[in-house]
Amino acid sequence: MTEPLLSIRNLDVTFGRGERETRAVDGVSYDVEAGKIVGVVGESGSGKSVTSLAVMGLLPKRGCRTAGEILFDGKNLLGRSDAELSKIRGKEIAMVFQDPMSSLNPVVPVGTQVTEVLRTHEQMSAAAAKDEAGELLKRCGIPDPQRRLKEYPHQLSGGMRQRAMIAIALACKPRLLICDEPTTALDVTIQAQVLELLSELVADLGTAMIMITHDLGVVAGLCDHVNVMYAGRIVESAPRRELFAHPQHRYTQGLLNSIPRLDHPRGAPLRPIPGTPRDTVAWGKACAFAPRCHHVTDECVTGGIELEELSTGHQVRCVHPATRQETQADGSAAVAEEVR
Ligand code: ADP
Ligand code: MG
Repeated sequence: MTEPLLSIRNLDVTFGRGERETRAVDGVSYDVEAGKIVGVVGESGSGKSVTSLAVMGLLPKRGCRTAGEILFDGKNLLGRSDAELSKIRGKEIAMVFQDPMSSLNPVVPVGTQVTEVLRTHEQMSAAAAKDEAGELLKRCGIPDPQRRLKEYPHQLSGGMRQRAMIAIALACKPRLLICDEPTTALDVTIQAQVLELLSELVADLGTAMIMITHDLGVVAGLCDHVNVMYAGRIVESAPRRELFAHPQHRYTQGLLNSIPRLDHPRGAPLRPIPGTPRDTVAWGKACAFAPRCHHVTDECVTGGIELEELSTGHQVRCVHPATRQETQADGSAAVAEEVR
């Protein structure tokens, strides 16, 4: 078997100390194979962004401790110097953030921001970088790219700015692209276009992608594999079709039930997950989701709950996972077909 491009192993990220200690990421392990798309889904605060910042080496230097390994091409990125990481960042691993306005430099024309990356990492001449930047914007669906190159970020619409961010991220043909809620700040129609663009571009370039989102609908048509996170841990991990057809963790089921369904009568109420992420209890012996779970029993708060492989490639961290008969009867498979 070939080695995965990225292998996160037992990653812990802890902020603060003593009373204020927060374990933002707690023993997270997952792999990303070259050219594949992995989804990471969970409500706000579940540790999705902190995991990706750890991969990029962008966690704050102070008040933050890490443990575990992040192997990229078999080499551990955790604990490397900024100088070493800056050779990898942008060139081998690139990132697209939720809010392009805060990641683009507001006082530098968009074109310069694209050419800068090409000149730094690819040692291109100014003229070659300019041509390439124009090509990139065009590929990212930005009309009239030569004019756009001279404009500043505030002159572009939200959707165009996100396209410019994608152009910058893909400028050096990275082997891994991490997208952190790339469409959350966009209108629904633009969201779909940007997702389509991303999936086309990564397929063309053979780039692997991690798609981070709070919205299972986003990963439905896109990802090869999905990891569901809750309170810093992976609670379910499965190939995409398997996950949508047989969601076995009660939290994953809750996320699916809160997506509007075409096969339900109009006006039928959505079934949101009760409570909020604040109702979480600390992992330890208890399941952190127990206070919000309809299936909770005493064992859920005394058991000690490991991620277990229930069928090939499908892992679940739950004392009372749904059976396959149950998921079939629940008709979750219909969602799988519909959200595609
Ligand atoms: P999300 O899944 O929404 O991306 P994050 O990964 O951003 O969640 O955050 C996970 C947890 O880590 C949250 O409880 C958050 O408050 C905490 N956290 C994130 N960054 C910091 C920080 N710089 N200092 C302290 N706590 C942080
Ligand atoms: Mg986040």
